[in-house]
Formats: sequence, C-alpha cells, structure tokens
Amino acid sequence: MSPHILALDVAGAPHRWLNVREAAHYYATDMIAWAAGQHEFVLHGGTQRISGEQSLIRASSIIAIKGRDFMVRHFDRVPTLTKDMLLARDRYTCAYCAQRFRAEQLDLEHIVPKSRGGADTWTNLVAACKACNSRKANRTPEQAGMKLHYVPYVPNRYEAFILRNRKILADQMEFLLLGVPRNSRLHGNE
Ligand SMILES: [Zn+2]
Repeated sequence: MSPHILALDVAGAPHRWLNVREAAHYYATDMIAWAAGQHEFVLHGGTQRISGEQSLIRASSIIAIKGRDFMVRHFDRVPTLTKDMLLARDRYTCAYCAQRFRAEQLDLEHIVPKSRGGADTWTNLVAACKACNSRKANRTPEQAGMKLHYVPYVPNRYEAFILRNRKILADQMEFLLLGVPRNSRLHGNE
C-alpha cells in the first residue's frame, strides 16, 4: 500500500485520506486551496495534445481542497468503529493482562457483555487476548474479578484519522497529533 495524501477542508479540518490518483484529480481541476505537507509526490497527469508529453503534477502530502462539497460538516460525529481502529487505539495491548499481541491474536471484548445489554461502542469495547477473553466469558469485569488496565474512550476526529491509516508520513502524523487530546494514549511513547 502506498502512502496516502491527507485532504483537509479549507478551514483545515481533516476530510479524508486520498490515494494518489484522487489527489491528481483535484490538482488537475484546480481544486487545491493550499498545501501544508513536507513530502512531495510526483504524479502523472494527462497527455498534452500538442506536445504529446505527459504532464507531471507535484502533490503535497497534506492538501486543503476548495469548495462547499469538501466542507467537513459533522466535525464531532463519533468515528465509525472498526476492529483495526480499536486495536490500534488500544495499542495491541490486552486490557486485562496488559501484554502486547499481534492483531490476529486479539479479540474485541465487550466490557459489559452483549447478553447484558452491552453495546458495540468505543467505550464498551477493548482489545483482549484469547485467554483473557475466554476467562472473563459472559461476565462483567467485577463479576470476573478482572481489572481493566486502561480506560476505553471515543477517539476524536484527528485521532480517528491516525487510527485508520497504518502508513502515516511523519508530517501528517505531526499535523494530526496537534488535534488529539492530551489524555490520548497516542501521545504516549510505549
Ligand atoms: Zn490478556
């Protein structure tokens, strides 16, 4: 997977990750309001009719795109939860035994079990290893006598952008981290 380009709206709110092709389209249609990245991608544009040469587009790793269609409307909306993002939030660490694992060795564990009305939400799900998950079974942590080693939380928009992309460039990470609350574990150096 090649790195993606971080697209912002004109006000600087993260809008989406673009692949290089999509970014080339916005450059070609003069939709770039400003650029803030430190990396440059060289993209191949269309072929010029007269010279027959293919045009080159230099795209920044962070771009802001013009227009109403690109305005971020629901800035505070809770990010859609995926297993990959939740495991990344929890730094691939089991909430109960505090050991680190590979992604495929971890499950999503309901703190309040589904059978007791526990929801599929950022604050009711944690990463858990198979052993801890089956030991806790269909019980709450109190009933199972198992303590949570960290508190699950809802990532904000900036953090969700980090969790969604496993190949973030340094300048993109730096930009997004500015919007991540201090108490996020992404600021930790484990
Ligand atoms: Zn465990």
